[in-house]
Order: sequence, then structure tokens, then C-alpha cells
Amino acid sequence: MEVAGRHVVVTGGAGGIGRALIRRFAQEGARAIVAADRDLAGAQTVAAEAGALAVELDAGRESSVLALVAEATAAHGPIDIFISNAGVPGAMGGPEAPDDVWDEAWRVNVMAHVWAARALLPEMLERGDGYLINTASAAGLLTQVSSLVYSVTKHAAVSLAEWMAIEYGERGVRVSCICPQGVRTPMLDLAMDDPAGAAALTSGGLIEPEDVADAVVAGIRDERMLILPHENVAGFMALKGSDPERWLKGMRRMVRTARS
Ligand code: NAD
Repeated sequence: MEVAGRHVVVTGGAGGIGRALIRRFAQEGARAIVAADRDLAGAQTVAAEAGALAVELDAGRESSVLALVAEATAAHGPIDIFISNAGVPGAMGGPEAPDDVWDEAWRVNVMAHVWAARALLPEMLERGDGYLINTASAAGLLTQVSSLVYSVTKHAAVSLAEWMAIEYGERGVRVSCICPQGVRTPMLDLAMDDPAGAAALTSGGLIEPEDVADAVVAGIRDERMLILPHENVAGFMALKGSDPERWLKGMRRMVRTARS
């Protein structure tokens, strides 16, 4: 699919990857763009630059995702491309993270994508046209050693995209999942506090949000399910798939070395 002439909605659009996507979609000639975020002032700034509509969103509540879909549709007609990009880092560490942190990560990193699909699929399937994209992470294909919450919820986001790509792919609804490693945004800072997290995130080199936007436009054009802005991630996936025990040993060694 080409972005030109399309109606695109991006959540988490106030900063980081979402802002870069919105700027890039404007350059590509999208017909209409919606920037949604819980940070309304930030979304308004990005929207003003890109000639987009800003909408306040709490991606962790279904009613708010539904209201976003309704407002965008009322303003510009059916949504062609919905990018569920808002995400939260969860907590550092393992299962000791409190339930409210797990709950927020499940809602924003997973259920927001489910709620968007639930709202949009009937109309997209009827039209035989549409594109659902979520931003997961390389953590959803490999792991993010600094955060169990983040790794688990991002794996769920990848699984959701895979399932939908199989189920709806031949009925006109394309599905993609964006899986970057380290991208220079405010979210990166938390994981970089843990030396092991930093080692994992930088193993493929840090890239800019604009590099992710380039990869996303190319991925949409090719209608590729997995959008991998870092080249090395496919190689790490291949190693994990072909020899999981060797991959685990390598990961343990990396964590040990980084923390020693
Ligand atoms: P960011 O912190 O710059 O942007 C995240 C945006 O999501 C913010 O504007 C924030 O206000 C918004 N947001 C958070 N919770 C929300 C909610 N409940 N409702 C509405 N908006 C909400 O970080 P980013 O790096 O641009 O993150 C974008 C996506 O990319 C996330 O899903 C993140 O997990 C993913 N990601 C980031 C990296 C990285 O290294 N930065 C790597 C892989 C994946």
C-alpha cells in the first residue's frame, strides 16, 4: 500500500517514533493524519506542524480507543492505516514488578491493539481494504533483558499481529508489526540505566526515530508483516530459531559481562 492519499491514525504521536511517523506520512502525501496521545499538548504541536488532527487518547482504555476511531472517522471518513504505537516501558527487573505496572503494560502494549482491531475490522473487512499496524519491539521477538514486563507484553503484541496477518491477510486487511531495537527516544533512557539492558539495546546500534519512519514507509509499501528497522534482528531471530540453547547461553554471557 502507498501512504499517499490515505487516512492514517498514529497513537503515541506526541513524540519519539510516533512524531517521526507523522512527519514522514505528511511528506508522503497522506490524505489525512490523526496524532493521538495522552499528552494532548504534545500531539497538538506535532499535528500543527504536519497539518494533522490532534486527539487526546488514553490507549489503556477501550472507550478512549473507540472514541478516537469515531472522531477520526467523523472528521475524515474511514481510516485506512491505524498505527497503534503508544507504549509503556513497564518496570525494570522481573516478576516482582507490582500488579498495577503489569496491568498498565498489558493494557497499553497489548489490549490497545486488540481494541483498535475490534473497532476497525468489521468496516475494513467489509471494504476489503485497510491496514492495522502495531509497534511491538525486537524485545517481542528476542527479549529485553532489563524488563520482564516489557518483554512479555511485546511478545504478546507480536503474536497478535502474526495471528491477525494469517486470519485477515487474504481478505484485504494487511497487518504489520514494527520491531525496532534501540531507538533514541525518551523511552530508551530507562532501559539504558541497566548495563545489561544497555548492552542488549545497543548490540545492533542505536538508530533515530526518522530511521524507523523510513523502514515503516518501506514496510507498508511492501506490505511486510515484520518491519525490522535494525538489520541484525533478523539474524538474531534466525540464531534463536535454529539453536535456542546457544542463543540463551550467548544472552547469559552478555548479561554477566555487562553487569560485572
Ligand atoms: P516515547 O516515550 O518517546 O513515546 C511514547 C508515546 O506514547 C508518548 O508520546 C506517550 O505520551 C505515549 N503514551 C504512553 N502511554 C500512553 C497511553 N496510555 N495513551 C496514549 N498515549 C500514551 O517512546 P517511543 O520510543 O517513541 O515509543 C513508541 C513505541 O515504540 C512504543 O510502543 C515502544 O515500546 C516502542 N519501541 C521503542 C523502542 C526504543 O528504543 N525507543 C524500541 C522498540 C520499540
